[in-house]
Amino acid sequence: MVEGQIPIEEYETGNTKHSWDLPALKKAHKILAEYTYKKGEIQRGFANRTLYVNLSTLEIREKKVTEDMKKKFTGGRGFGLKLLWDSVKSTTRWDSEENELVITTGPLCGATQYPGSGKSLCLTVSPATDIICDSNVGGFFGPYLKFAGFDALEIQGKAKEDVVIVVDGDQGKITIETAPLEETNSHVLAEQLTFLYASQDTDAARQKISVVSAGLGADHSYWGCLNFSFYDIRRKVCRMKQAGRGGLGTVLRDKQVKAVLAKVERFTGVSNNPADPAAIVKVGTKLHREIRDLDRYQCNMRTVGTGHLVEIMDAYDLLPTENYRFGSFPKAPRIYSPKFYELFTKIIPDGCWHGCTMACAKTVDGFTVMTGPYKGERVTVDGPEYETIGCGANMSLWDPLWILEFNFYCDTYGLDTISTGTAIAFYMEMYEYGILNKERCDGLELCFGNGEAVLELLHRIARGDKGEFIIVAAKGARRVKDWLKKKRWGDPRLIEDAGMESKGLEFSEYVTKESLAMQGGYGLTLKGPQHDEAWLIFMDMVNNEIPTFGDKAEALHYFPMWRTWFGLNGLCKLPWNDVEPANNAETDEPAKVPEHVQNYVDYQNAMTGWHVDKEGLILQSERCYNWQRAMNVWLGRGRRKDDWIPYRSMGPVTEMEYISRNDRYDRQLKEVCGLSEKKVEKMTVQDKIAKLYDYRQDQYQKLADAVYYRRGWTPNGVPTPQKMKQLGMDDPRMLKMLQKAIDVDEKAGRNVWGGRYAKGEHPPSKNLHYWEAW
Ligand code: SF4
Repeated sequence: MVEGQIPIEEYETGNTKHSWDLPALKKAHKILAEYTYKKGEIQRGFANRTLYVNLSTLEIREKKVTEDMKKKFTGGRGFGLKLLWDSVKSTTRWDSEENELVITTGPLCGATQYPGSGKSLCLTVSPATDIICDSNVGGFFGPYLKFAGFDALEIQGKAKEDVVIVVDGDQGKITIETAPLEETNSHVLAEQLTFLYASQDTDAARQKISVVSAGLGADHSYWGCLNFSFYDIRRKVCRMKQAGRGGLGTVLRDKQVKAVLAKVERFTGVSNNPADPAAIVKVGTKLHREIRDLDRYQCNMRTVGTGHLVEIMDAYDLLPTENYRFGSFPKAPRIYSPKFYELFTKIIPDGCWHGCTMACAKTVDGFTVMTGPYKGERVTVDGPEYETIGCGANMSLWDPLWILEFNFYCDTYGLDTISTGTAIAFYMEMYEYGILNKERCDGLELCFGNGEAVLELLHRIARGDKGEFIIVAAKGARRVKDWLKKKRWGDPRLIEDAGMESKGLEFSEYVTKESLAMQGGYGLTLKGPQHDEAWLIFMDMVNNEIPTFGDKAEALHYFPMWRTWFGLNGLCKLPWNDVEPANNAETDEPAKVPEHVQNYVDYQNAMTGWHVDKEGLILQSERCYNWQRAMNVWLGRGRRKDDWIPYRSMGPVTEMEYISRNDRYDRQLKEVCGLSEKKVEKMTVQDKIAKLYDYRQDQYQKLADAVYYRRGWTPNGVPTPQKMKQLGMDDPRMLKMLQKAIDVDEKAGRNVWGGRYAKGEHPPSKNLHYWEAW
């Protein structure tokens, strides 16, 4: 042992001892359907078939993956889009019988030589947005599904009672089984099923199981996430990573699925049968060394995970505080990463799939739960990651232990921490203005900083409380906005401007007021405001590298396409730019991390035997990105009006916000809006807010023009049939649908750049509101 290191045994790990009657749980299972299949070999990253399960008809079957499907959709998220297109209708909504939950892998998923190669991609028609939502997640399920013989799993229909779907890759058997006695909440359920289905009573056997589940919160909200388990052999607990966004867990539970389980006893680092294994080892080893040598001087992810971002965001006025009113706060140092470092279990490697040297999946072991049904139990809390800590700041809750409690309950109840935290921060602001109060909140005093009330809200959601507020609050910020306006409680414009959602999905945790490009990175997206398409704040606001509309549009073309690529392949994005080669700053385009882009070119070619270059990778993404936008158009939500973002994400909504950054905004009125010093001095704060409001709304619409143009879309944001054909996506049904949509827009005069507004003028801000549909 290295001198000064603390031996692992000194850390207390593992959870409260359980007294489950496992044989009784198993005995209560009734097999509803069984399907046996012949296991085949993975070839160059593909199992070459997908698995279809229908819970209404109890049908289980295989579908072939064709070479044409690989060429057009690559894998992972692309396969998910293809399977959904073939199965749902334009009228399908999240709870429709035919809606599907699709879990996919990708050709690079399951490799252990290159860091970050264990991601699954999950897709569905979302309860929050009514369009396709995709979410990526670590844990062992994706690799195990592929090693069991399938590139994707489609779940359609609804069961009549709670079931588990078991994919047994050793026996070549799929079963749908009733599961009446297991607990629904994930931290217990994942362990029960892991112990139940392990082939032996050993940690090694438990490690061969992965469970996908949601929780009781997902039963009663639109914030349901999916928890993907991985048995941690050192801690002897099931840990979990989350596919958080868009209500995927809500769909799982609506289908009455308690869990999906995959089991694979035998696999190796080359189970993907790559075309050139030596080349993968070469490129992987290079990155392993970089992470080992450079991470400590760059992001320090191996030590504190993504939590290192809290202090950076606070320093740059980007940490959302009190529902994004502010970007920094005097109490913020209380939740900086060193505070969580003190709580994390150290030394034990923290990768969420084998071979990830980045190992950013931090945990707090032996955390004693303070409230709710598990009060007093000792549990392992996965995280908290930056986004979850940011939710604490957004609700003005500055206690690391409270954040751990919130993190634990969100996870086990199957609630997305981002949507939950962002929506509750909005409810708190409404409470502060008296638009909500104790009576209207079913007895909860939901003011900023009241952690007890937040946890009570979570427990009541999980219990299925029938209070009017509890029911609507659990459906998210969009539904609460509509509810408040319907009740005529408060100024509708304030409600719209302050509630941080777009397309029905709550924003993730970055303040974007001073970065127009990042506003586009949240608004001009496929699934809604999540930073996984583009994170341009530093390029735009801090380094001023993309000053013109053309520059911003180029960035909002390239980065969403590039980031989409990770999801097509089953990869984690973090090892791309959360560690950089030592000489990266000297390259032509440091933001793209060119050396790492070349790594991915080499990696995909070595796995698949294809011969693509870096432009080829972008083309793969562009095909799927445009396809997903086209599907959104088909589902009725893929136009300019749907890319609307609330004004809180663009500028100061209230006087208090304006005054808190008075110098900055006054200077902008003079420098960018062209007002004289004298005029600005004479203006009231309300007049200044109004002036900035019109200016910034106008800038956003101009940005949308530039981005749609760059992406090859119509002025109303629709991909053209010509563009689709150019990309090689020639599905006649898709092309016909797009042409029809464009014809409708044409007729309504929406197909001219800025044409609906005389002389190139952009719409007055009041017309931009979501409810005043074009
Ligand atoms: S970088 Fe972190 S999230 Fe990504 S695969 Fe590695 S451990 Fe998992």
